[in-house]
Amino acid sequence: MINANRAGAVLTVDLNVLVKNYAFLKGQIGNNTVCSAVIKSDAYGLGLEPVALRLAQSDCRSFFVALMDEAITLRSILEKHDKKAEIYLLNGVAEGAESDLDNYDITPVLNSLTEIERWSSHAKRNGRRDAILNVDTGMSRLGLDTRELDTFEANPEIADGIKITYVMSHLACADDRDAMKNREQRELFDNYRVRLGLQHASFANSAGILLGPEYHYDLVRPGAAIYGIQPITDEINKITQAINLKGKILQTRFVDSGGTVGYGATYQTIRKSRLATVAVGYGDGYFRTLGNRGFGYIGTNRVPVVGRVSMDLITFDITDVPEHEAAPGTMIELIGPHYTVNELAIDAGTIGYEILTGLGARYSRNYIGSS
Ligand SMILES: *Cc1c(COP(=O)(O)O)cnc(C)c1O
Repeated sequence: MINANRAGAVLTVDLNVLVKNYAFLKGQIGNNTVCSAVIKSDAYGLGLEPVALRLAQSDCRSFFVALMDEAITLRSILEKHDKKAEIYLLNGVAEGAESDLDNYDITPVLNSLTEIERWSSHAKRNGRRDAILNVDTGMSRLGLDTRELDTFEANPEIADGIKITYVMSHLACADDRDAMKNREQRELFDNYRVRLGLQHASFANSAGILLGPEYHYDLVRPGAAIYGIQPITDEINKITQAINLKGKILQTRFVDSGGTVGYGATYQTIRKSRLATVAVGYGDGYFRTLGNRGFGYIGTNRVPVVGRVSMDLITFDITDVPEHEAAPGTMIELIGPHYTVNELAIDAGTIGYEILTGLGARYSRNYIGSS
């Protein structure tokens, strides 16, 4: 644990907001559709253990992770707290992974014929095994392509011993409600489901849930929206932001007109200015692209980042803030109610997902709503 007083910044994660967002998403789907939670990449940077535990304490009973190590860690977290849940492994059955899948009771997503064969031969030796079958409908990342589907359709015995609980696919453009691709992928998905004779299906991520009931099927897989990222950015936001990041002012100084700030001297003051140096930098996941572009807030005063972002430091122009409101030790809001993850991501030229998963290891982390 990083000491809050000594840390350069304090990250607060409100776990109750995660539960609220999860409940909102659940409210969008029918009673017969399962709402899982995707908690890969350390629960999108917010912390696997506190997040998984809080969601498990609410009514979430199935989780998706990307890596085997995430799955194993998650299983031990759940067991430590006497919680039962389904754990799905998105990255599939690697060679030799069968015993880990068994020992930690992890259900794999099968992404290729090779993985189906691998899991089937394990199942034939050790008894029937569950799996999700992933089909590619337009991402070209993971899942059976059309050629593999042809082979599988002609040789269904490849999957002997496997109980396919869901067939799944993933949307490429769900964050754009009007994208033709959404319907095209759905039609292809339905076509594959019929060909494979598989009824239960999983298709939607966060944005997919908001596309409407025809995208929900039997199991939805939201991640981002649970963590407060708005799934479809040009619509009214119904998701509540879950984090708050405050950086500490180390020093303030006056700089005469014409003074330069930071590496490369990319910013020059045009008046006598007061600057604040804050103990956060790109080494903390504060994007370097925010140099001369990002903002912070002191109370309700918006203060611009001036100069480049350094590894451990950023500089704000605080000339317009009353002097007594911005002194060494004062905390500047870097992410919060005035400047959201989505806004910061736009200014950084990226998406909220990358901001959250990049949140630094040097922040002092503070969880609200953990038990
Ligand atoms: C990451 C991921 C999700 C979650 O997507 P969000 O946009 O964060 O809701 C769902 N399904 C798959 C296959 C994923 O890789």
